[in-house]
Amino acid sequence: MSTIRSITITEFEWQPPGSKRDSRKFAVSISTTDDELGEYVALWSAPPLAVPQTIAAARMLINHDPRDRERLWNLVSRAHAKNDRIGYGALDIALWDLAGRTLGVPIWALLGRHRERLPAYVSTVSGRKGSGALGSPQDYADDAAACADRGALAYKFHGLADGEVADEIAVLRAVADRVGGRMDIMTDPGKRLSTLADALRLGRACDEVGAFWWEDPVRGDAPRAHQILRERIRTPLLITEFVRTLEARTALAIDGGTDLLRADPELDLGITGVIKSAHAAEALGMDLEVHAAGPAQRHCMAAIRNTNYYELGLLDPELGNPAMPPVYAGDYVEDLSAIDPADGCVSLPDGPGLGVTYDTDWITAHTVATHVITEP
Ligand SMILES: [Mg+2]
Repeated sequence: MSTIRSITITEFEWQPPGSKRDSRKFAVSISTTDDELGEYVALWSAPPLAVPQTIAAARMLINHDPRDRERLWNLVSRAHAKNDRIGYGALDIALWDLAGRTLGVPIWALLGRHRERLPAYVSTVSGRKGSGALGSPQDYADDAAACADRGALAYKFHGLADGEVADEIAVLRAVADRVGGRMDIMTDPGKRLSTLADALRLGRACDEVGAFWWEDPVRGDAPRAHQILRERIRTPLLITEFVRTLEARTALAIDGGTDLLRADPELDLGITGVIKSAHAAEALGMDLEVHAAGPAQRHCMAAIRNTNYYELGLLDPELGNPAMPPVYAGDYVEDLSAIDPADGCVSLPDGPGLGVTYDTDWITAHTVATHVITEP
């Protein structure tokens, strides 16, 4: 029987375009006694918060059969129950990659494919007033029109980081004036609004322009606040990007706290965790939107019926996808060119496992710390 022999966690740093500071991410690599390999580069969950948890979870996997994904998911889920468990996502994804590579099939084939093409929305970076390519409502409207011309089916903006609710509404109206009727429009304040009254103001504007969804409008996790928003606003509310655990997310949905659910393979215990949430949502008759861009997200969305859009983000009109480390050796991309103008969709990786090839030379050249785990 093949067992997990070692797990390497590699932290690397690079300077994203447009940034004055280095950004740090990490890669995981799982190898077995039969020399099988599973890899994943975490794109969104970053050190310093995720790596210590990933190291702790990796120790629990040594000497186990790599095919025991459900057993291992439960093992780590219980052991890390006093934490947010974000360290396990990258390891679960690498175990799926290993399984796919060993069997010579893509992860979507292991999960069971529902769709070949992934309808995509452009998800923007947050702008800043008067600076960069998204410095005003007009800039956002110009960008939305350019994305529509390029074939994007929907546009979700993260508003001005230094703006108030009035700025959020101004961007929404400018975008709707320009591209309303051509593409779906969504807004995501990312919990920036500090009062329920501000959230209601934005919600009424969403209703006026017929927004497709509005996401995480208000600070805090109070279920009652979100129930009030749902009672008064017609636009579907999407929360749970900030709610960890399958059970909490599902309970919130049952209690009427959201219209649409969210889960993320890096933040929510891997591909295994996202598929559990998707099936829980399916049983409730609800849709689950997979959070963020990346190969793991694409495989998940391919295998979920009750979902709408792939989040192609976070895009900047001038810088492309600045937060995405250039870790792919092949032609896999997460910028506007990933959208096929013919149908507004992004494609599914077709190779074994995740179906992407990592540029190990680039990662090695940018490595700042390596942790090799061989003992439980
Ligand atoms: Mg969001």
